[in-house]
Amino acid sequence: MIPIELNKRQNEILEIVKGNGPITGEQIAERLSLTRSTLRPDLAILTMAGFLDARPRVGYFYSGKKTSQAISDNIAQMVVKDFQSIPVVVEESMTVYDAICHMFLEDVGSLFVVDKQSLLSGVLSRKDFLRTSIGNQDLNKMPVHMIMTRMPNITYCMKEDTIIEVANKLMSRQIDSLPVVKERKDGLEVVGRITKTNITRAFLSLADDHDL
Ligand code: ADP
Repeated sequence: MIPIELNKRQNEILEIVKGNGPITGEQIAERLSLTRSTLRPDLAILTMAGFLDARPRVGYFYSGKKTSQAISDNIAQMVVKDFQSIPVVVEESMTVYDAICHMFLEDVGSLFVVDKQSLLSGVLSRKDFLRTSIGNQDLNKMPVHMIMTRMPNITYCMKEDTIIEVANKLMSRQIDSLPVVKERKDGLEVVGRITKTNITRAFLSLADDHDL
């Protein structure tokens, strides 16, 4: 659903009706030094969108948006760039041992791997490290590019994508995080990281905004 953005005059009308309703269209027009017919389209929009109620011979009064409508507008507006974290990136040649240390030190659950051009080439999760560690390999000799999930099998998102789109990807692919990327002509540059924790934070901010 596309949220409605009110213009300056529509917001002024809302303020007048909130403070003085019920109030007639004539009276609103008078306060704004406009004619009733100039206001007609704005009043129609505000009424149809559910901000105002109109009663014949009584006038307009403020009905407010229903809470559920306000929450769904708010959800639809939540985008990656407002909730993303800083990405933790390693090079393809880093050893698995060093990458495990890096994961602990940076306190993250996944690392993104980049090639020599600094373009996204892989993802490493805790399970990738566990799987490798229970094998008989020398973690000090093995580079991460041997064990990572690699392009083109990486699920990613852009900073303008909605949180709903990201949540859908995380659930349908059964993964914990997505790299946030910017398209370059030769590949993808990693600019952020979005995880289930960020989605939970977004969810809590929604609860906060609506006093839930
Ligand atoms: P964990 O290993 O902690 O359960 P995930 O569920 O995120 O973490 O990872 C499971 C598998 O999915 C791992 O093999 C990992 O490399 C891969 N993976 C993680 N994130 C992505 C992603 N964004 N795109 C593709 N594969 C991923």
